[in-house]
Amino acid sequence: MAVLLDGNALAKEIREEVRRDTEHLVSTRGVQPGLNLLLVGDNPASDVYVRNKARDCEKVGIRSTIVRLPADAQQDEVLSIVRAWNADDDVHGILVQLPLPPHIDEQRVIRTISPTKDVDGFHPDNAGRLLIGLPGFLPCTPAGVLEIFKRHAIETSGKHAVVIGRSNIVGKPLAALLAQKRPQGNATVTLCHTGTRDLAAHCQRADIIIAAVGVTHLIRAEHVKDGAVVIDVGMNRLVADDGTSRLTGDVDFDAVVGKASAITPVPGGVGPMTRAMLLMNTLLAARGGPEA
Ligand code: NAD
Repeated sequence: MAVLLDGNALAKEIREEVRRDTEHLVSTRGVQPGLNLLLVGDNPASDVYVRNKARDCEKVGIRSTIVRLPADAQQDEVLSIVRAWNADDDVHGILVQLPLPPHIDEQRVIRTISPTKDVDGFHPDNAGRLLIGLPGFLPCTPAGVLEIFKRHAIETSGKHAVVIGRSNIVGKPLAALLAQKRPQGNATVTLCHTGTRDLAAHCQRADIIIAAVGVTHLIRAEHVKDGAVVIDVGMNRLVADDGTSRLTGDVDFDAVVGKASAITPVPGGVGPMTRAMLLMNTLLAARGGPEA
């Protein structure tokens, strides 16, 4: 039976560390970490995410401010808020909740956030730094996956990792990090996506499978080699006939748990780690950033 990689337990541990370090930062340097969050529109899921992030901050002593704009807010308004936060020394981290309404150029907004306050790690500067191995803010989900490897002492060096999904926020950065010659890296990486032929054949050769796809139970027992480590990033909402819904992953957990050596559940795996990494990044920003 696989070891359960319990993201809730790890995230709790990390929040406690961030709380302690935040307290230390306040008492020794008088700096209170601050995260400002911008939500445009009334997407209910985004609203929940933003409120959860702000609540996480509160619990560890990070100040948080949520600014909400209506769905028809103009791009200039969004950009001027971001610029004001860039110039405000009390704001250490800036998070613009995605997706933005279609009339707003998301990449333009991301590029306007100061790279030194880009705690989501989406700015091209930070993405480029990640790729060439310079210190920078790592995007929270890939950072959360590496943190699971670190804290569970899962060896990646020399292993074959198959990452499924090539998004800019999960798959691509994760593949780059795993390939980098660094702790929780040095793996041989295969990046699979919609253009991949015979996904199962690639997965069967993997020591580590990371699914970041958004397709319920795409990864089944026949994809998994005995003893492989399986990380499920997917968050898919399954609605039952009676209208109730539950969260499920990209991995058919029940079918795979008997073959894998370690596996993350959904919910309670990568999700809480992503949230915890945002706190770590905000604390890092308040301390002067990844290069300090
Ligand atoms: P995305 O939705 O932008 O893209 C999905 C990727 O999967 C694409 O690159 C596509 O090429 C690939 N893909 C789709 N169908 C495929 C198939 N049949 N075979 C192979 N590849 C296929 O990706 P995303 O934003 O990284 O999100 C992926 C999943 O991860 C979603 O379920 C999302 O909700 C979840 N997610 C979870 C967290 C977390 O904290 N747990 C964070 C971010 C995203």
